[in-house]
Amino acid sequence: MIEVKLIGHDGFYGISDVLRLFFGNVKEDRGEHRVFSESEEDLRIVSEVSDGAVTYVEGERDLWEKTLRERFPEVIEPKREIKRQLYFLLSKKTGKDFPWGSLTGIRPTVVAKEVGTAEKLISDYMVRPDKARLCIMTKDNEEKVLGLSDEDAMNVYIGVPFCPSRCAYCSFVSEEISHHLGRLGEYASALTDEISYVGRRIKKMSSLYVGGGTPTVFSDEDFEKVMRAIKDNMPVNGKTEITVEAGRPDTITDRKLKAMKEIGVQRICINPQTLCDETLKRFNRKHTVAEFYSVFEKARKMGFEIINTDLIAGLDKEPEELLKSVEGLLELGPENITIHTLYKKRRAALSRQEVLDGDDGLDAVLGKAYEMLECKGYKPYYMYRQKDTSHGLENVGFALEGAECIYNVAMMTDRRNVIALGAGSVSKRIFEGGRFERFSSPKDVLIYIRDHEEVAKRKVDFFGNGVEDEVSEM
Ligand code: SF4
Repeated sequence: MIEVKLIGHDGFYGISDVLRLFFGNVKEDRGEHRVFSESEEDLRIVSEVSDGAVTYVEGERDLWEKTLRERFPEVIEPKREIKRQLYFLLSKKTGKDFPWGSLTGIRPTVVAKEVGTAEKLISDYMVRPDKARLCIMTKDNEEKVLGLSDEDAMNVYIGVPFCPSRCAYCSFVSEEISHHLGRLGEYASALTDEISYVGRRIKKMSSLYVGGGTPTVFSDEDFEKVMRAIKDNMPVNGKTEITVEAGRPDTITDRKLKAMKEIGVQRICINPQTLCDETLKRFNRKHTVAEFYSVFEKARKMGFEIINTDLIAGLDKEPEELLKSVEGLLELGPENITIHTLYKKRRAALSRQEVLDGDDGLDAVLGKAYEMLECKGYKPYYMYRQKDTSHGLENVGFALEGAECIYNVAMMTDRRNVIALGAGSVSKRIFEGGRFERFSSPKDVLIYIRDHEEVAKRKVDFFGNGVEDEVSEM
């Protein structure tokens, strides 16, 4: 068993995160002030804060205190020091290193903003220099994009948590339509009601993102109905950024593309995930590479200004396949390329250990992929991490100059209001000083269909002056 005993502090969260990085499963025993992992290895560690922070292997305090002082002569705040020391000690004991060092958490650029420089990320968190540089670059681009969005304007999310089938690697809480056959039309009606009620009360909108799941899972008629509801009720104009996550190429039809064009959608996501048919099949992705190419070409011909394409690193049997996919996309020239790293939560079909053990050069391949993108003028502009990604790696959105997605940055940075409609959606209201509060809509689709009117009203109240309250009743 690996056990960390906490003395003189309550940094359970940070300790758990670092321990999880090395050993996977972690449990906290707050009563006994310890965090442990049921690993085959045996190690007892003490993390103590009295005069300063010191982390040591039980019985070896003097040795570790000396080692730490030599390695980290500069004193930093205890919260960071606790994690840095534990990371350093575990790294020494296991011989393992991780690209992001002791920087855990899902928003690395928030930390980058706090510390300011790549050097500080390297010294305070032991982040590897290439990741520190990537993080600072992304943070700077995020700031630029945020500068383009009006602070008082609303960013809107419309969620469609259904997919035609479940991809084996997916951890998103979406429903296979086979479980809700016949309810999709009802969901579209509830959603259009909510769009109408909330949309007519929004004063100003900076961006709108229709995401999922797979929003294009609707029938042509229902999809058109949702698009029309947006146009008729929301303050969208030529300046509002509108994105539709078309996602799965197998759900995109000419009528849906036309409906998007008619309401002024400029950004559309068509996601191949990989350009390897065998991998798509292996993960139950139900479309082919050829279908992706065909839909991409159609969307181009119809004049969508910005096309985003997602790839997932670590999906293919051989990590190097990722580079072939990047090469293929670069030939097509989408304005955005987002690279996710394979991860897994409880619901996905891969075991967690498979994902953790599956690095095998993925880290290096990812670095090469970024280089290829940067060589072609793509810049990283938003970034997040998820727990349980292979090797603690990240997800990064790249864009050609001027083609960045405002919504993605607004959502990721927690610095802009987001009003979110649909089942399972989470709204975020930002207050002065950076504090924010969330409002969650019911996750269960059937409960959402039943209660959506009440939910919409409470949501409008939640935002207070951010949305007007003087138009129609439902
Ligand atoms: S399309 Fe996306 S959200 Fe739907 S199952 Fe596949 S990965 Fe998950």
